[in-house]
Amino acid sequence: MAELYDWQRGTWERLLQGRAFWTHALLLKGRKGIGKWAFARHLAKSLLCSAPRPDGQACGQCASCGWFEQDTHPNFVAVMPEALQNASDNRSNQDNVDTKGNDVTARKNAGQQIAIDQIRRLSDFVYLTGHQQGHKIVLIYPAETMHGAAANALLKKLEEPPENVLFILVTHQVQHLLPTIRSRCQQLSMPVPDRESALNWLQQQGVADPHVSLAVAGFSPLLALTLAQGDHAASFDRFMQQLAQTRSLDAMALAEALQSTSLPDVVDWLQKWCYDLVCYRSTGQIRYFVSQQSAIVALSKNMDLQQAIAFARTLYQRQKLSFHPLNARLFLEELFHDYAAILQR
Ligand SMILES: [Zn+2]
Repeated sequence: MAELYDWQRGTWERLLQGRAFWTHALLLKGRKGIGKWAFARHLAKSLLCSAPRPDGQACGQCASCGWFEQDTHPNFVAVMPEALQNASDNRSNQDNVDTKGNDVTARKNAGQQIAIDQIRRLSDFVYLTGHQQGHKIVLIYPAETMHGAAANALLKKLEEPPENVLFILVTHQVQHLLPTIRSRCQQLSMPVPDRESALNWLQQQGVADPHVSLAVAGFSPLLALTLAQGDHAASFDRFMQQLAQTRSLDAMALAEALQSTSLPDVVDWLQKWCYDLVCYRSTGQIRYFVSQQSAIVALSKNMDLQQAIAFARTLYQRQKLSFHPLNARLFLEELFHDYAAILQR
């Protein structure tokens, strides 16, 4: 995709108007699933374009635009965890979503972090002359997956900025970046679409019940699309149906069914489900699983509130563990078993 999302146009205009004031590093920050990756790529493509349109956007016709779309542009490099690389190969255009709408958050067994070697390899690119004399662009996504040595190696490059190189860092969690990296970047808050624009966009993508997916996705439209149409839409359905039935939960069967789904996503779904149970019991409101109201009403009535809150707290810890589980099925079995214990059936 070469176009911007509708909700990004204002941000694009403001950014381009201030172009004279850019430093050598931009940091695009904002929640997951709102199109930051597409925006960053579009920005890179437009800056490299040899005949940009009056609004600064790429022409889509020149040789540079062609190379960019084929991922062969000599003056552009994208750095991301191995787990996301395959998706990028087919011109991924959405945060964590590839061109087919598949969620690529966690390819199994692939690296989830940007490795030190990936940053070291950048040296040749940024310090040696490129194919053309024009500027070079390094896109780092998501920047919070750079830790320790990798983050420090990048910091060094930001401290001694090579000429004619623009770094574009994209992050879902800006608070997890080194303060010294943050302070060397010009920060840009990426817009979250309003509800109506998000629903319209989902409808255009052919999502039948956009209200439901949008609520579960915490109002991030691109995540909503993966829940509705992505390659683990079926897993999500299964999860929702199993949790919504009021007979006792078969933790082992559900764990087996979901073991090849991205575990951080499953934990995220369960966090939202538990949030709704606790929230409904305390305030009568449902935020995420709006389509499962009757189940949430019934389940929350019977659960032990204190135990549910305690369990929900453990999910933050489990979210971290879910990136490196020793055994996916056992991890999920334990998760669902503990969840079932909060329901007094
Ligand atoms: Zn062009």
